[in-house]
Amino acid sequence: MSEPYSLLILPGDGIGPEVMAEVVKVIDWFQANRGLNFDVSHDLVGGAAYDAHGVPLADDTMARAQAADAVLLGAVGGPKYDQLDFSVKPERGLLRLRKEMDLFANLRPAQCFDALADFSSLKRDVVAGLDILIVRELTSGVYFGEPRGIHSDDNNPENEGGRVGINTQRYTSGEIRRVARAAFELAKRRGNKVCSMEKANVMESGILWREEVQWVHDNEYPDVELTHMYADNGAMQLVRRPQQFDVIVTDNLFGDILSDAAAMLTGSLGMLPSASLGAPMANGRPKALYEPVHGSAPDIAGQGKANPIACILSFAMALRYSFDQGDAAAELEQAVEKVLADGVRTPDLMGAQGGIQVSTAQMGDKIIAA
Ligand code: ATP
Ligand code: MG
Repeated sequence: MSEPYSLLILPGDGIGPEVMAEVVKVIDWFQANRGLNFDVSHDLVGGAAYDAHGVPLADDTMARAQAADAVLLGAVGGPKYDQLDFSVKPERGLLRLRKEMDLFANLRPAQCFDALADFSSLKRDVVAGLDILIVRELTSGVYFGEPRGIHSDDNNPENEGGRVGINTQRYTSGEIRRVARAAFELAKRRGNKVCSMEKANVMESGILWREEVQWVHDNEYPDVELTHMYADNGAMQLVRRPQQFDVIVTDNLFGDILSDAAAMLTGSLGMLPSASLGAPMANGRPKALYEPVHGSAPDIAGQGKANPIACILSFAMALRYSFDQGDAAAELEQAVEKVLADGVRTPDLMGAQGGIQVSTAQMGDKIIAA
């Protein structure tokens, strides 16, 4: 058997452990039936880690995440932890993982399964078969740029209220090039098309963004089709004719907004996977964290109602991007597609058309059977 892939599983809080239990079944299936060899370990993050260690991510867990080929995370947080001090809030565990692993490329696919096309905010014919990937820069830009803060504006008597709030959009050429490279690499494995979005018409960082993405294209990926679009037009095009896109690469702020808009093209929050990738490790694999887009959903936790598909599709992304098992990833995605086509639905997917309602665990079992 080949070298095992090391996988650190951090189920977290709320529905996190429930959906992760279904992923573990899927992993076991691939080990038993497809000869894949995983070295799986489990650890705590978020509120679960706070309860055990008084911190949302223990140093030891951080070290294990750094050493793993891939980290798979469920969700963190819940009302039980709302009163905690900011420094130990469950979300801080996730932020620490992202920051210390330097995960600069956030991948959010927006894929519309035909059986769920009526869940979209758009008409069926606009979204059926949709398959786009938004690559959002995750570690820089206006969320981190200095100077920042809320200051008094004493020297300006004209300013009613007397305060000023400041954030700085700052990008280096190196930060832009590395996320552009990630986008071009992904496009090569998909539709070979990248659309870069910024506001070069009003922002210097946008001009630099456009120039550096073009530079990476011209020097390293001349065979991938590259277009540029102002982000406001991009938002419009995304809801007007989303099928025109393959890979979209954009900055932290625009990516935050555009990926949420794209998510609603496909329907339920319970269906959306994500990946966050960093620089390649010694073995050539990128540092990687995979997680569903949804949160811990405390309102339905512990009731067997959670849809495990977002987490299962996040594992499919791990198969593809960390372990180079594209065939296994496609097999898993096709199983999900088949189960949906058969009308199998967790409660969140019970729309106007109805269907065969199943629990979290039954959905996992159906996907494995498929
Ligand atoms: P967070 O702050 O962690 O993002 P949140 O409560 O703001 O948490 P989510 O946890 O993402 O947001 O969930 C919003 C709502 O969507 C939930 O209350 C739940 O009803 C629904 N939901 C989210 N994920 C799922 C899922 N996997 N299956 C079914 N319903 C879900
Ligand atoms: Mg939320």
